[in-house]
Amino acid sequence: MNKTPECTPLQLALCQLDRVAKKIKLDPCIHEKLKHPKTILIVSVPIKMDNGKLEVFTGYRVQHNIDRGPSKGGIRFHPDVSLDEVQAMAMWMTWKCAVMGLPYGGAKGGVCCDPKKLSDRELEKVTRRFTTEITPFIGPRKDIPAPDVYTNPQTMAWMMDTFSMHSAHAVPSVVTGKPLEIGGSYGRNEATARGCVFAAEEFMRFRGKDIRESTVVIQGYGNAGAFAHKIAQAEGAKVIAVSDSKAGITNPEGLDYEAVSAFKEETGSVKNFPGAKNITNRKLLELECDLLIPAALGNQITAENAPRIRAGLIAEAANGPTTEEANIILHRRKIPVIPDIVASAGGVVVSCFEWAQNLMGYFWTAEEVSTRLNDVMSLACRRVWDISREKKIDLRLAAYIVAVSRVAEAARLRGIYP
Ligand code: GLU
Repeated sequence: MNKTPECTPLQLALCQLDRVAKKIKLDPCIHEKLKHPKTILIVSVPIKMDNGKLEVFTGYRVQHNIDRGPSKGGIRFHPDVSLDEVQAMAMWMTWKCAVMGLPYGGAKGGVCCDPKKLSDRELEKVTRRFTTEITPFIGPRKDIPAPDVYTNPQTMAWMMDTFSMHSAHAVPSVVTGKPLEIGGSYGRNEATARGCVFAAEEFMRFRGKDIRESTVVIQGYGNAGAFAHKIAQAEGAKVIAVSDSKAGITNPEGLDYEAVSAFKEETGSVKNFPGAKNITNRKLLELECDLLIPAALGNQITAENAPRIRAGLIAEAANGPTTEEANIILHRRKIPVIPDIVASAGGVVVSCFEWAQNLMGYFWTAEEVSTRLNDVMSLACRRVWDISREKKIDLRLAAYIVAVSRVAEAARLRGIYP
């Protein structure tokens, strides 16, 4: 069970599954089934680059499980995308959807490329060719992609258009996270951050704390991190450090969202933000604070730095930021971690709302979306908190108990075909 922090994302995911299987005495047949993804798809994405040369990228779509409904999960464009990582994240999507009570299984996809080095034209070509390659495997009742690291509403618009052109009619419900104009939902863009800050507030409340008197550190300034800054500040917290892939900045007096995001927009990074001190991403994680939000990539809190973390609470807005060993160390040090499958679930919850609205052809107001997101989050947080108290276990194990039990029950009811 105690893997080294250097274990791969898939090893981490399987190790987490083993841990919960032991705890709930999971039927070995169902355990075996859940270890394996339903479908693995590896595709070549050949692109005529702007310079006339041909480059072939590799794309993946892994569908882990469909026991509770069609599979759901994002598409990431990143140079580190690998089958191992996509497979782990597909499994995490199964648990994420189950713990939130969504009628979905889990999937994930990605293209191994560096989107920062691609022109808009090249990015559009990568997206359209990748979508074409996975078209037979996705669909509103089959598998519904969404944005993830370095993909956005524009990427989803191209995916939706490509799938629709192959179907010869518009199919908005094939992807979520679309722009509003083509069937997107209010609140989807900031949903991951909103869900994360809301979950943090809930767990603070359970522990008699108030976000308004808290200091917050955020790692990562993409969709989740930047909006987490905005929302935490709006909730009255003091955000004392943030970072992006280039550097971190800190100011104990607080960093203003509007000013930092405008600065990043202008210069391409938060680095050298006036009035703040530059720090490394490593040091940022070790700052003393009430709430730490890792909102970048996986494998950030490891056995190496976990003993030096000085946060009152950690809310994982990223997927897989804490290794299994680090999780054990943090639990021993009584630093609660709201696991990714809960803290980063706001995105897929609002994705589910978007999909439902597309299927109905009827749309909700921003307020309705926000209230419903809070309701779904609140229910999941309460359940996870109660189980962790009752069984005296960490929040991650409690969340996994809820998720894996639900998927296992669905698998048992449906049986093994044939
Ligand atoms: N990529 C997001 C995640 O990891 C959202 C997935 C979705 O909306 O389907 O949760």
